[in-house]
Amino acid sequence: MVVIRQKLVPDSLAAKITYGKINKRKYIVIHETDNLKTGADADAHARLQYSGNSRAASWNWQVDDKEAVQSFGHMWACWAAGSDKGNKEGIQVEICVNSDGNYLKAVQNAAELVAKIMKDENIPIERVVQHNYFSGKNCPSKMRAGKVSWSQFITMVKNASGNAQQQKPVTDTNKYRVLTGTYSTRQAAENVLDVLKHRFGWVAYIESDGSRWRVKTGTFTGVTAAQAGANKIKTAKLAQVANPIAA
Ligand SMILES: [Zn+2]
Repeated sequence: MVVIRQKLVPDSLAAKITYGKINKRKYIVIHETDNLKTGADADAHARLQYSGNSRAASWNWQVDDKEAVQSFGHMWACWAAGSDKGNKEGIQVEICVNSDGNYLKAVQNAAELVAKIMKDENIPIERVVQHNYFSGKNCPSKMRAGKVSWSQFITMVKNASGNAQQQKPVTDTNKYRVLTGTYSTRQAAENVLDVLKHRFGWVAYIESDGSRWRVKTGTFTGVTAAQAGANKIKTAKLAQVANPIAA
């Protein structure tokens, strides 16, 4: 069952990048990010929206193989569907296609999320549509290419319970950072720092360790979140060693 959480874009920023809180919520519009880069997961896309997307684009949800993250409440009419009707009547869901993610799992999670939104907003399955339906864009492109067919996806939605799980409140409120193993050149550490800052959207620093360098992240709340961060660094092959340390 997909875990969901919110990282809501502040209202003042949301007003600049949407049509406002006028969404008629008649449709659920399915997209794919088409961003294959490692680390371009739901967390990274949610952070991008939260810190002010430089593109004139916005979407309510992003979902990957681990979780679904909400950036805008359903009342917000986001800019994603390429048509007035699609934007003002649709709740926009982006499925992440990062190359270090499991696409099939991300689609399954999206199906569970969609089932929940249908239940919460009383939207029938006939109104779960592709971005393509509103503007003719080739989106969601992998699904349209048949990687998971649209009819399979709709079947997944029908089979999902609609009881997606709200993330349990964090009980471990201790702060942790993730520290990588050492790099032999400063440039190697700089390259990793660049990915963490600009692709993952994290705070991160370089530490000198004698003649070698390490990368240290900003703080995570709870060791589980820090461990997930360390795993993300390793999965993206940015470091062989990455471990949570007490902050
Ligand atoms: Zn799209």
